[in-house]
Amino acid sequence: MTRIAVIGGGIAGLSAAFRLEQKRAGGVEYALFEASGRLGGVIRTERQDGFIIEAGPDSFLSEKPWAAQLCRDLGIGSDLLSSRDHQRKTFILVNDRLIEMPDGLMFMVPTKLWPLATTSLFSLSAKLRAAQERWSKPRESGEDESVASFVTRHFGREMVERVAGPLLAGVYGGSAEKLSVRAVLPRFVTMERERGSLVRAMLEARTKMPVAQPAATPSLFTTLAGGMQQMTDAVAAKLAPASIRLDSPVRTLRRAGTQWTVVTGAGEQAFDAVILALPAYAAADLLGSTDSKLTGELRGIAYNSSITVALAYDAASIGAATRAKIEGFGFLVSQGGANKGKMLACTYVQNKFAGRAPAGKLLFRCFIGGAAATASMQLSDEDLASAIRGELRQVLGLNAEPLFTRVFRWPQAMAQYEVGHLDRVARIDQLVAQLPGLALAGNAYRGIGVPDCVREGAAAADRLLPPPTK
Ligand SMILES: Cc1cc2nc3c(=O)[nH]c(=O)nc-3n(C[C@H](O)[C@H](O)[C@H](O)COP(=O)(O)OP(=O)(O)OC[C@H]3O[C@@H](n4cnc5c(N)ncnc54)[C@H](O)[C@@H]3O)c2cc1C
Repeated sequence: MTRIAVIGGGIAGLSAAFRLEQKRAGGVEYALFEASGRLGGVIRTERQDGFIIEAGPDSFLSEKPWAAQLCRDLGIGSDLLSSRDHQRKTFILVNDRLIEMPDGLMFMVPTKLWPLATTSLFSLSAKLRAAQERWSKPRESGEDESVASFVTRHFGREMVERVAGPLLAGVYGGSAEKLSVRAVLPRFVTMERERGSLVRAMLEARTKMPVAQPAATPSLFTTLAGGMQQMTDAVAAKLAPASIRLDSPVRTLRRAGTQWTVVTGAGEQAFDAVILALPAYAAADLLGSTDSKLTGELRGIAYNSSITVALAYDAASIGAATRAKIEGFGFLVSQGGANKGKMLACTYVQNKFAGRAPAGKLLFRCFIGGAAATASMQLSDEDLASAIRGELRQVLGLNAEPLFTRVFRWPQAMAQYEVGHLDRVARIDQLVAQLPGLALAGNAYRGIGVPDCVREGAAAADRLLPPPTK
């Protein structure tokens, strides 16, 4: 019998535990330790007055297959819900004005000349700069750099402030000045190395792609009919109840030879292997003196905090001018310029997914991240909701009284893949390989999104499982 401890009951730990559960008949026993009283980590869905409110992630990228596959394996594949891409438009808030992202902009690569020429998102000099990108030469140096420096080299500073920065802030709650281009935008680094110009590489890739049938084109985002928590609840329901230890923060982890001892308030338990599905700093705390080099590397991975604020409205209470502005999936806030609010992004939830708000009602999901989230963490729910209402008033002219507001705080929950991240992860992998029976998973290493965490959790379990007997 191989005994494996999974520490951390977010999606990464749940994915690992589900893999172990599938191997239980083959001589594997596991225990899942979770500090809080619930499973799911930052994935949490609440219901109020017919609204489905996402406290943490609201969906995942459809092109990454692992979360959707997990849902199919759990028997809830028929509840996968696509984003309403027919009304997908994203706006950028620039100096109190909402400007639609021009057609043909693939992340920050403008692939269509006419929309680039006619958009009011960029100044004339920025447009000329972007148009010249197709003559860029392949780069010799393979050194990592920040996303801001990479994008500036190709398209100029305005593309960072108005597109790349806001898009990444919405995903990482972090800054393009610090995020590593190799870790965050690896596809673009490859394009630059091979072709020089990202525009040319993108256009060539498109001509090589088979023409997709509209029905076969997946939506950009996927969620579940019952909300993201449907996925974590479904995993939890498949696990053996006796294996789940809620309200069990692990205090220490000790290693003696090939055995690992997990220490909680309830006592000590010995295991053959452990999966740390925790933020990197929490994994470092547990590993303590096991390996000071490893804990040093883990502590080197920075984290940001974030806050989501949900505001529900009666559509009838909102004036026509404001309603006309509530178009597409929502807006991202540009950097620099006159935008000085807390909010980085706002999603018009009912436009993005069906079934989130009752008929005639609207749900706004506002995202605060980075320094603004850290500075706002101690504010009361009332003060946070009031600040966000003030910003929505400014941007949309939204003066109506909300039906209700909800505030969710996520301290130190989003790993920041800063310049040099991939080298750090390679060093961590080497150090972990010297500690038999240890595996790491979670959003700190190879992808912050839910699908990446699902993949990482399952891969950690696979690494520790005994080889199949013939
Ligand atoms: C506000 C927000 C919005 C997001 N939006 C999206 C999105 O739309 N799409 C997307 O793909 N991704 C999104 N993400 C990212 C994604 O949700 C996370 O990266 C992912 O869910 C993290 O999963 P995890 O299991 O690694 O960590 P977590 O969910 O943080 O789970 C870690 C668990 O470990 C537990 N723990 C900590 N210490 C101990 C201990 N000592 N002993 C036992 N247990 C412990 C914690 O209580 C927690 O439950 C978002 C994240 C946030 C915060």
